[in-house]
Amino acid sequence: MIKNVAIIGGGPAGCALACFLAERSIECMIFDDNKRPALIVGESLIPAAIPIIRRLGIEQEIAKFSELKKGAGLRHGSGSPRVDFEFQKSANGTPDYAYNIPRAQFDAVLRKRAQTLGVRFIEHRAKVVATKDNSERDVQLSDESLAVAGLSRARQPDLLIDATGRKRLFSKLLGIEADHGPRNDIAHFAHFENYQSDSAIPGQIVISVLDCGWSWQIPLPGRTSVGVVFNNSAAQSYGNTAAERLENVMQHNPVLSKQGFQRVSEVMTYSNYQLLSKLGYGNGWILLGDAFGFVDPMLSPGVFMSLESARLLDERVFKNRASTQPQLELQLDQYVQEMRQWHKAWSFLIEHFYDGRILTLGEMRPRIDDTTPWYSFGRLADRFIGRLLSRLISGAGTRSKFNQAMLTYTCQFMLWDLDKLNSYKVKTEMRASLDESALINSAEKSDQVAA
Ligand SMILES: Cc1cc2nc3c(=O)[nH]c(=O)nc-3n(C[C@H](O)[C@H](O)[C@H](O)COP(=O)(O)OP(=O)(O)OC[C@H]3O[C@@H](n4cnc5c(N)ncnc54)[C@H](O)[C@@H]3O)c2cc1C
Repeated sequence: MIKNVAIIGGGPAGCALACFLAERSIECMIFDDNKRPALIVGESLIPAAIPIIRRLGIEQEIAKFSELKKGAGLRHGSGSPRVDFEFQKSANGTPDYAYNIPRAQFDAVLRKRAQTLGVRFIEHRAKVVATKDNSERDVQLSDESLAVAGLSRARQPDLLIDATGRKRLFSKLLGIEADHGPRNDIAHFAHFENYQSDSAIPGQIVISVLDCGWSWQIPLPGRTSVGVVFNNSAAQSYGNTAAERLENVMQHNPVLSKQGFQRVSEVMTYSNYQLLSKLGYGNGWILLGDAFGFVDPMLSPGVFMSLESARLLDERVFKNRASTQPQLELQLDQYVQEMRQWHKAWSFLIEHFYDGRILTLGEMRPRIDDTTPWYSFGRLADRFIGRLLSRLISGAGTRSKFNQAMLTYTCQFMLWDLDKLNSYKVKTEMRASLDESALINSAEKSDQVAA
């Protein structure tokens, strides 16, 4: 029934779906406004994204300009304790690596791939209007957008996909509400040169639990992406502008403050991003990627989730095309249900990072050296926990009920020191009061950047 599709938004979700549809000979166009800022978050992939990238036929291209990522590290703001997670190969085909990607280049490769497969790109900020008294579609392209695409009024595409990311074009138009996550954070980030890496294994992203909030370090070729995540009141106490806040946090927290690095980009800001739409589809439209929902930047599941939403939609709806409306709705329900399961699984895991359980668990992993025999409890427990965490954070086994239960039981049996748990959790209130006179103000900041 669906012969042609218009996707609004040419980010990873929109482009990946367009590639899959083109392979199924479904006519597809992408509207993208080409209004991306120079710097976009979503610079670190997880291993579960690799099989999708391989299916898209772009892994070799991506590898040329990306940093190989073999794991992740989590540490307390004082530097200790620190837990290093190394990705391991998984039986379901998930490899033991991912990439840290310069996002603009990554998106450009995906886009080129879609164009090669025959997808038509229309550089235009698409507008949609709600339709009244039309049981087949709740939303349609505006006359202006139809005209830009060279379509007549009578030729609305059979299906519209909202892949506009955080713009959430259809949800805003149709008043679709979202369930918001427990955190209401602000993230500031920028790129730095000569920032001495804290990676213990190649390409490792390092997550640091700070005085208030947390920070990421993502090694990219020739530069490092550093971001800080905290709540509104903490953000304000660090300064008035995004640049002041980022630089003050980096200076104030010993694990981040270093010598001789330079900021080489603008400081970008994202806020209030944890949400999941209450509806995933309606008459003639479907939500994809961030437009459907976003979990949290912790553990970097975002780009994978966008690619996965495209894969799932293709697999559930376009692979075996329904011939009746109820059949189609059943397929769409499956897509929505699986997306919800993914969100629930990531939220469950990420909560263990925020509330201090993973850091405490890591610290309690028994000390092991070359003389420890393979059959000792310590070595077996260490291997088990390492494997479990790798399967959970790589995306290979994040949705597995077995892995989730194992994590719950392991935490229940091994974590009994509540003081430790409390001191390792990501705080929303400042641990110690800030010495405001030591903070950089805007005037000093411009000097620093200029220097
Ligand atoms: C603080 C933070 C840190 C993050 N870090 C990571 C990370 O390390 N790793 C990771 O994997 N993910 C990360 N993410 C998430 C990741 O950035 C997103 O999940 C991902 O970019 C979503 O892809 P998408 O295709 O759904 O949307 P987007 O990438 O946002 O693409 C949407 C596209 O639609 C276009 N558009 C919007 N409106 C219109 C319109 N009306 N007409 C035409 N075009 C339109 C936009 O210009 C854009 O090109 C992070 C997110 C946040 C908030």
